[in-house]
Amino acid sequence: MKLLLSLLSLLPLSLAWGNLAHRTIALLAQKHFTPSASLYIHSLLGSETLSDAAIWADTYKFLPQGRYTSSWHFVDARDEPPHSCSVSYGRDCQPNRTCIIAAIANMTGRVNDERLEHGERNMALKFLLHLIGDLHCPLHAEGLLRGGNDISVLWEGRDTNLHFVWDVLIPQSRTNSTEADERAAAITWAGQLYNMELEDPNTTRLVVGWAREANAWVCRTVLRGGVDGVKRKELSGKYYIEAIPALEELVSNAGWRLAAWINELAKEEALKRGDKERGELK
Ligand SMILES: [Zn+2]
Repeated sequence: MKLLLSLLSLLPLSLAWGNLAHRTIALLAQKHFTPSASLYIHSLLGSETLSDAAIWADTYKFLPQGRYTSSWHFVDARDEPPHSCSVSYGRDCQPNRTCIIAAIANMTGRVNDERLEHGERNMALKFLLHLIGDLHCPLHAEGLLRGGNDISVLWEGRDTNLHFVWDVLIPQSRTNSTEADERAAAITWAGQLYNMELEDPNTTRLVVGWAREANAWVCRTVLRGGVDGVKRKELSGKYYIEAIPALEELVSNAGWRLAAWINELAKEEALKRGDKERGELK
């Protein structure tokens, strides 16, 4: 047991929205799918549920064959919160353009690529379901102290770090849930956030724009008082209350935008198929 625990401590620290937020974002997106997007998702996922497919990428990055994808979950903005927040693709998506922005662009290109095998397209879709969610987590668009992993804080009197507070503890508190009931909590939360639509579903802004928005929350809320404002401080009280509007806007936008993205991909796929069928009829 001791050995297992010490091995666990060697694993990279949390680098993703927790499962609860990912499941919620996928379920929220599902509510906005067009009928053809639902068919499209089914044809690529088969019997896998959308909720489970949205968390697959966090398991894959820990497998030997998936390790190369671990840098796809974030972009380390080299900015200076809380004074200035910014994301620049050229400056921050290094080394070798392996950050979340490049990954979303690549996977978007692969998911409808007919030269690829079904399994590869299935993986590309699962990355999109996950990464569009991660891009709406402010500390996934921030490089300072490893996205807050190295900022120690308190939550209900216990030691933790700022990244984990945003990925897991704030969403769990908001839904009054634990890891054990995250599936059910995600269904309820998606239902509540469905009434909080914040933008036109046809607006599919550039992915870099989404990263900039998430990153702006770092200055506005996450690190508003600088590192000293949170370091060794209790965050489950006033800080948590002030974090809720940011959390809900981010998760809600993520679901909405994920749906718009998938709806577009389904449309593109249907057009391609239509062209092909017309070609065969000639
Ligand atoms: Zn992730």
